[in-house]
Amino acid sequence: MNNINKEWHLRNKMPKNPTFEERVNWHTAHELNCNCRTIPKHLLNKKNKKDSKIKN
Ligand SMILES: [Zn+2]
Repeated sequence: MNNINKEWHLRNKMPKNPTFEERVNWHTAHELNCNCRTIPKHLLNKKNKKDSKIKN
């Protein structure tokens, strides 16, 4: 069975209409605090693409 950190979920609800950044932040924090699900791959792919585009 998956380990769900119920308390964390109660305290950290995903916003109703999350932006991409909010979703990435939520999933990043979620992964550190709970094991009920992993970060969706498409979210990571999009994140990596975005990161590689940013050049200062
Ligand atoms: Zn969870």
